[in-house]
Amino acid sequence: MKDPISLTTDFVELYQEIRTCEACFLHKTRKNAVPGEGPQDAQVMFIGEAPGLNEDREGRPFVGRAGSFLEELIVAAGLKRSEVYICNVLKCRPPDNRDPLPVEINSCSDFVGRQIQLIDPFVIVTLGRHSMRRFFPDATISRIHGQPKTVEGRLIVPMYHPAAALHRGNLKATILDDFAKLPGFIDRVRSLRQGEEVLENSKTNPVLKPRQLDLFEE
Ligand code: SF4
Repeated sequence: MKDPISLTTDFVELYQEIRTCEACFLHKTRKNAVPGEGPQDAQVMFIGEAPGLNEDREGRPFVGRAGSFLEELIVAAGLKRSEVYICNVLKCRPPDNRDPLPVEINSCSDFVGRQIQLIDPFVIVTLGRHSMRRFFPDATISRIHGQPKTVEGRLIVPMYHPAAALHRGNLKATILDDFAKLPGFIDRVRSLRQGEEVLENSKTNPVLKPRQLDLFEE
């Protein structure tokens, strides 16, 4: 399968490893593994749960109804799909779209970690509880959705999965509200990063004081 965006060797190798991975049982039932897509210099990364029927067929993340809704949400947040990176915690479809098993998430975990490392995004939006648990293992999505936290120097924003809003109509307003806050979060992180750059460039100028870098911490 051809990747639409030109990739560095690191990414080509990573995608190749994912597509030939047999580390868990899901390799037996997949049509296509779904590594992820988007530019390698994306500032914002979305991590969902697992490929569904359409994604498995096409080898691309978020191409079904949930994908269309995610795209709407991305646009409403002032972004374009083509400028963000999108992937899932699992790269292969669980049969009948069942929930990912812990053993599968563990087997696939290194791939997501490498994607985060290579892209180095400012902001990661987790979509759904399985993705959220990578960063907040003891949290529940109903309590922390839409509330960002800084984890290892990155802003992590837990959100409901777009498919949840399609299945449970009462969640649609909640997910729309959460996404409406995203541009503000991104702007704050961008200005903090710019502050860090100014600080880095001004190390020879002691007049400039360090910026407050933990505005998202409680
Ligand atoms: S889900 Fe992940 S660990 Fe399992 S076979 Fe696919 S790529 Fe490998």
